[in-house]
Amino acid sequence: MIIDILTIFPNLVASPLEEGILRKARQEDLVTINAVNIRDFAADKHQVTDDRPFGGGEGMVMKPEPLALAVESRRRQGSLVILLSPQGEMFNQAVARELAGREHLILVCGRYEGVDERFRERFVEREYSIGDYILSGGELAALVVTDAVTRLVPGVLGCTDSALNDTFSRPLLKHPQYTRPARWRGMETPAVLLSGDHQEIADYRFSEAVRRTAERRPELLRRAEFSEREKKTLRNNGFTAEMALAHHEE
Ligand code: SAM
Repeated sequence: MIIDILTIFPNLVASPLEEGILRKARQEDLVTINAVNIRDFAADKHQVTDDRPFGGGEGMVMKPEPLALAVESRRRQGSLVILLSPQGEMFNQAVARELAGREHLILVCGRYEGVDERFRERFVEREYSIGDYILSGGELAALVVTDAVTRLVPGVLGCTDSALNDTFSRPLLKHPQYTRPARWRGMETPAVLLSGDHQEIADYRFSEAVRRTAERRPELLRRAEFSEREKKTLRNNGFTAEMALAHHEE
């Protein structure tokens, strides 16, 4: 998979690519991630990529031609051109999963007041927002998308199960986690996790995941599907089970 990040600040996206999972995925050639400088496609000697908005108003707007040339320099069959934008569809795990199946993503980072509308109309195939707040530029959003997508590219995570069990892999938050020491500052690790009984542990974790989801994100439970065995486990866990099943059956 190839991810090209089009930006006027390529240094801004460089260092996150040098650490952890993104670094490993690149080293193992599972993904290629390029920061492409939009300024290289500006025609004038000052490499200007923005101009004042027609009609007046505050701020600057990214000129369409450097953006178009930058996209055209990378785009080929199988590319998907994505604009990061607070006005876009909300990016989530389902979108990340779909994008991880693509062979080439071109992520366009806006700056200032955003991009010229005609560039958006002509070149942009998808627009994603990473949340209802305004960032100074699309770079951090592009890195969020890059990270979430790369984790889902086959072979990137050492243990594929860890992606399967992550929060949002199904509409449930992940169960709470504990590590050594078993007793820390007077607080105990739940005994079941030390029992070595794999089925008991799985049931406990599942119930805690549902409990946590019911408390924090109850709307997710409306989309959750439970097996007969899971329903039984929930019924054995009282209040949370009732709550989860009530949501489920709504
Ligand atoms: N004036 C624009 C508006 O109100 O819609 C906001 C422009 S913002 C300051 C500059 C750039 O940051 C945007 O063009 C976009 O690329 C990026 N950006 C800002 N917030 C974002 C978000 N929540 N998700 C994705 N990209 C975002």
